[in-house]
Amino acid sequence: VALLSDVLAQPTAISTLERALASGRVHHAYLFDGAPGVGKEMAAFGLAQALLCERRAVGEARACGACSACARALPREETRRPVHPDVIVVERGLYEPAQIGRRAPESQDISIDQVRTLVLARSAFGPHEGRAKVFIIRRAEELSVPAANALLKTLEEPGARTHFVLVTAQADLLLPTILSRTQRVRFASLPDEIVARLLTARAAGAVDAARAAEIARLSAGASRPR
Ligand SMILES: [Zn+2]
Repeated sequence: VALLSDVLAQPTAISTLERALASGRVHHAYLFDGAPGVGKEMAAFGLAQALLCERRAVGEARACGACSACARALPREETRRPVHPDVIVVERGLYEPAQIGRRAPESQDISIDQVRTLVLARSAFGPHEGRAKVFIIRRAEELSVPAANALLKTLEEPGARTHFVLVTAQADLLLPTILSRTQRVRFASLPDEIVARLLTARAAGAVDAARAAEIARLSAGASRPR
């Protein structure tokens, strides 16, 4: 599976990323912004996959989708993270407190503990396997103010071959200092027929086409509830 080319109905966002990949000028900090369920996260992992692919030639935008790095860059169903050591997911509550040096779970926000343990400690080193290192921050609007402030310097001057993708449906909640350090890629709301197709596929037959179309109309271009 090559994820980036499978993102539906986001021609502007995907072509921006593919041009960056083909020219070797992938920005070091992106903000993927758009309604929930429109393909931002799929694109984030797709970008990571393309950066890490062992067979992507210079000048090419597309991951092969078949090599070991391509397979390992995709998030696992159970853990919601990839096993590739160079794709690091940051998300509120994704890790056990002890893994990120805390006693209590992160109930409110992405803590500075998580940013220190997962981002600052690891971004000091180059990629494990040599190609790139990609940090994907889910619901980046949930970064606490101290966590966001701790990220600023790294966002501005990350290590070589290190990239950040901040994913959010609520960019207006991010600190201006974060916004100004990231390149914004806007993901459009999806046409109803695409939402219906996604819902039908996701429900794998449990939702009939008419019901899926109705849900799509009500969801106004977002295929997941907020
Ligand atoms: Zn590959």
